[in-house]
This record gives sequence, structure tokens and C-alpha cells, in this order.
Amino acid sequence: MECGTIGCEMGGADLDKPVRLALIPGDGVGPEVMAEALPCLEWARSRGRNIEFFSLPFGAEHYLATSETLPEGVFADVRDGCDAILFGAVGDPRIPDGRHAEEILLRLRQGLELTVNFRPCRPLVAGLDAPFDIEVFRENTEGPYCLQGSTEPGRAVDLAIHTEPAVRRLLQAAFLRARDKGCSLTLAHKANVLKHGHGLWLRVFEELRARHPGVTARPMHADALLCALVQKPGAFGVIAADNYLGDLISDLSAAFMGGMGVAPSLSWAPHRPFRCLALAEPVHGSAPDIAGKGLANPVGMVLSTALLFRHLGWEAEAVAIESSVSKALEDGARTLDLGGSLETAAMGRAIRGFLPLGHQQGIPMEKHS
Ligand code: ATP
Repeated sequence: MECGTIGCEMGGADLDKPVRLALIPGDGVGPEVMAEALPCLEWARSRGRNIEFFSLPFGAEHYLATSETLPEGVFADVRDGCDAILFGAVGDPRIPDGRHAEEILLRLRQGLELTVNFRPCRPLVAGLDAPFDIEVFRENTEGPYCLQGSTEPGRAVDLAIHTEPAVRRLLQAAFLRARDKGCSLTLAHKANVLKHGHGLWLRVFEELRARHPGVTARPMHADALLCALVQKPGAFGVIAADNYLGDLISDLSAAFMGGMGVAPSLSWAPHRPFRCLALAEPVHGSAPDIAGKGLANPVGMVLSTALLFRHLGWEAEAVAIESSVSKALEDGARTLDLGGSLETAAMGRAIRGFLPLGHQQGIPMEKHS
């Protein structure tokens, strides 16, 4: 049976081979939050997880110094020699056209065919009056973010290209997830006006809906969906969307969790085209307005690391990190964006203070699934 549960993507991995991760801290707050994810990797290793990682320098500083964004040779080494990427953020006001960001992050997303961008959104502390458990499945490689178009005097064109294989892969993953989780699936679209691109989304959605009679699935106009999401977030389960709408819906959903600083994401390639199958990164960008000031919240990055562990089949470590974040917040640890005064590193330490130590007090090590 096909599996829609996050964490089955590495099924069949060679357990004796170390998991190899490339770390790209990037720009702005990226390196600051990555510094708080690193101890989570060390911690997993201290519990016996076979993991190797190395850092790559690509980002604005490197581009400004060398004119190099992501060299093809390095891209190929990551694609064929790593299992996943842990990514901070890219974007720098000194490069206003965002060229380096495109050639690093979009190149990785598109070149590795990381079609599915998974953005879960649930309360970080228990006991909310109106609980919600939303999972956005955002197509990650095409749509209006394919960067094709032109600017002429008095006229500008952005193309939105949607291809059936990518749309099908994203929707199939969303249907499987809704089935396995036993929740509803909503497709966000505007096929009433975007007749071609979103018409394709709607057609594939209806075809898969007929094949998954056990999933309560409905298409919904994206504007009405956003209104309903604000009014009643608890009414939604999995939400599938193209690249653009998925970006908007997941940033809005991040607000339910506490803001941009706390939302995690994991992108993966369900069709397993290369060795490198996944990229974990916080939902936020490089946040130049707060970079270098110790103000960045590391929670989104740390929770993205937990998603990566789950993807690797390391469920116990994923759960331990997620519950450490909740316990730290319940204990009152807060960065400025959450109304507190802790700096990035202190927030990271507060979270790690709730991680079980190595094997001794450890949570049971389950076998890789
Ligand atoms: P991108 O398009 O690359 O996603 P963006 O333009 O959406 O970037 P962000 O860099 O995500 O912008 O920043 C949006 C807002 O969220 C800014 O005010 C920023 O300071 C805040 N923010 C982003 N990341 C964090 C963080 N880790 N901690 C606290 N605040 C953050």
C-alpha cells in the first residue's frame, strides 16, 4: 500500500550507511537559527543515530565575494551524495533582484524535484480553546514561481506553468496524508478565473477524489478558503495548493501558531528521483530587519529539524524535539516575536534543556521504519 505518512519516504534505506546531510545556513537570520539546529543533530548522534553532516557556504556573502551562487558540481554532489539538506534562509537587501536566492534555493527545489512542501500548523502549547491541526501541502517547483516572464515598457508578464506530473504528485501525497490521518482534504484554487492552470489542478483533483472515496475532499475557491480559515481554523485538515496560494495560506496559518518564527517545513520528492530526497527549512525567510541582533526565533528551524528526523524514520527523536519546544514554551521561554526577551541562543538552550540525555534517560530507540 502506498504510504502517505510523513516518515515513510526513507523506507528501505541502508541502515549501515550513515545518513549524509548538507547544511546551508544561508543569509540573514539563517546562520543564527541554524546554530540552534546543529546541537539537535549532535544530540541525535549521541543517541546512536548514524549521521554525518557538513556545511556549505552558499549565500549572499559568498556570492558577493566570488560571483558564485550554487556551482553545478556542488549541486550534483549534493543530489547524488547526500540524503537530505537542512536549509536556513536566503535573501539579502544587497542583492535586490534575489538572483543568488533563486539560483540556490529554487535550483535545489526544482533540480531535486522536491514537489511536495509540507507545512504543518498546530498549537505549540496544549490547552488552546480552539485547537487546530492544519497541514498545508504546497507544490514547490512551478506555478507562478517558475520565474518566467518579461518586463517591457508599460507591460509586465509572469508566466504560471503547471505540469500534470507535479500537480499529480502533490495531490497524490495530499490524498494519502488525509487518508492516513483520517482528516479532510481541501484544494485551494481559483479555476473560475485561472481556467487553464487551476483547471488542470481541478481535473486531477476530481480524478483522485474518485479514487479515494474514503477521504472527505472538496475543492474551494482560495479567497473564500482564506476567509473561512481565519474564522474557523479547526475546520480544516490537509490543504493542497499550488506554489503561490500555498505560500500565502501557510504564512497565514503560521500566525495561528504564533508567527513566522515558529513555523517549520519539509520538502520532499515522493517519486524518489535522486539520492537526496528532502530539504528541511523554516517557513520564514532571511528576515533582514532583525538579522544579526539575536532576535530571531529558532523554533521554526528546530521544528524543521524534527520534521527531517521524522522523514528519516527517527520518530522518537522527532517527538522528543517537538515536545522539548512545547515544554520550553510552557515554561515561559519566549523570544521577542512571542512577547519575551530571550535571544536566539538562549531560546535554543531553553529548548535543549528539555531534551532527554543520550541513551541513559533516553526514549526508546525504535528501529528505522
Ligand atoms: P521570504 O519571501 O524569503 O519567505 P519574507 O519576505 O516572507 O521572506 P521573512 O524574512 O520571512 O520575509 O520575514 C517576515 C517577517 O517575519 C519579518 O518582520 C521578520 O522579522 C519576521 N521573522 C521572520 N523570521 C523570523 C524569526 N525566525 N524570528 C522572528 N521573526 C521572524
